[in-house]
Amino acid sequence: MNNPKTILVVEDDRQIRHFIVYILEAEGFQCLSADDAQTAMMFLVSENVDLLLLDLGLPDFDGMDVIDKLREWSNIPIIVVSARDQDREKAEALDRGADDYLTKPFSKTELLARIRVALRHVELFEATTRDPVLSVGDLSIDLDKQQVFLKGAPIHLTQKEYSLLSFLFKNMGKVLTTQAILREIYGVGYGTDTRALRTLMAGLRRKIETTPAKPRYIKTEIGVGYRLADQ
Ligand code: CA
Repeated sequence: MNNPKTILVVEDDRQIRHFIVYILEAEGFQCLSADDAQTAMMFLVSENVDLLLLDLGLPDFDGMDVIDKLREWSNIPIIVVSARDQDREKAEALDRGADDYLTKPFSKTELLARIRVALRHVELFEATTRDPVLSVGDLSIDLDKQQVFLKGAPIHLTQKEYSLLSFLFKNMGKVLTTQAILREIYGVGYGTDTRALRTLMAGLRRKIETTPAKPRYIKTEIGVGYRLADQ
């Protein structure tokens, strides 16, 4: 890596913090670390941070407050670290502007995969203005022509199915909450019609997945939302 990315690791558990920093530095990342929200905020305003890895349970302030504050001026990727069975907390963090989450305990592989996706997404976002065609496996989308191809052959999607799939493609590899998807597809005043989304998703999967019950492209994140596989 000729231009190392700087990751701010915010975690009050010393052992976990050291474990994360050790892994990231071994991969060539530069790390800053903080054990509370105040120190984290100090780094975020004074240093050039490329990605924030944020534990939600901190001793001074709630991690959610850090997300709110940071999003007032910055779009850097935020990955939250959450305890097991905290689906509501994960969804809330995502809706407030976090990009993804890791559930404790997580492996080195998961940690690095989430970080790569989040950092790549920043580049992907900049690249889509140049190349409107995005693909994953045999599935591709032309965002200019609004066409979807499976194994090179065009497939017909309804307008809502297309909105759903293009939203997932623009966020490839990232988890999207049910609320964020509803807002994108149905707009303001979307309500909370998760059943409509499930029906829409089932229809879309029948058109793009070989085995809709075991989807290859659109993965369900139980209790949170959906994620388009990134390879
Ligand atoms: Ca904690």
